[in-house]
Amino acid sequence: GKGPYDSQNIFAKILRGEIPCAKVFENDWVLAFNDIAPKAPVHVLIIPRNAYVSFMDFSSTAPAEEIAGVMQAAGEVARHMGLEENGYRLITNAGRDSGQEVPHFHLHLLGGKALPAFPI
Ligand code: 5GP
Repeated sequence: GKGPYDSQNIFAKILRGEIPCAKVFENDWVLAFNDIAPKAPVHVLIIPRNAYVSFMDFSSTAPAEEIAGVMQAAGEVARHMGLEENGYRLITNAGRDSGQEVPHFHLHLLGGKALPAFPI
């Protein structure tokens, strides 16, 4: 969650184009791609282009314009994936207790079926 940003994390490599991803959306603020181990019919990861370790880092250090840009992009991705009719879930894991695995801030967009009761 906290600590310095590791520029060798897997999402940093995806952002640099060093490893491939199944891209579903991108704009100036974010890249969105399919999770490699999907937990639902739609499971997209939305990540800022800039380097933030977790939501703790993002929420406390990103400019308001970027926070708005990333959140608006998440809504656009959900619409792009056709989830507005039936709904969806947006999750972020931040730090050790959450089980966050990749130390680059990301939102999980989950949908495409009736999801199990929270927490998934
Ligand atoms: P976290 O536990 O950090 O919130 O979620 C990390 C997510 O990244 C997991 O759902 C995992 O399946 C996904 N993931 C890990 N490595 C890769 C990868 O190389 N490519 C893609 N597309 N997803 C990955």
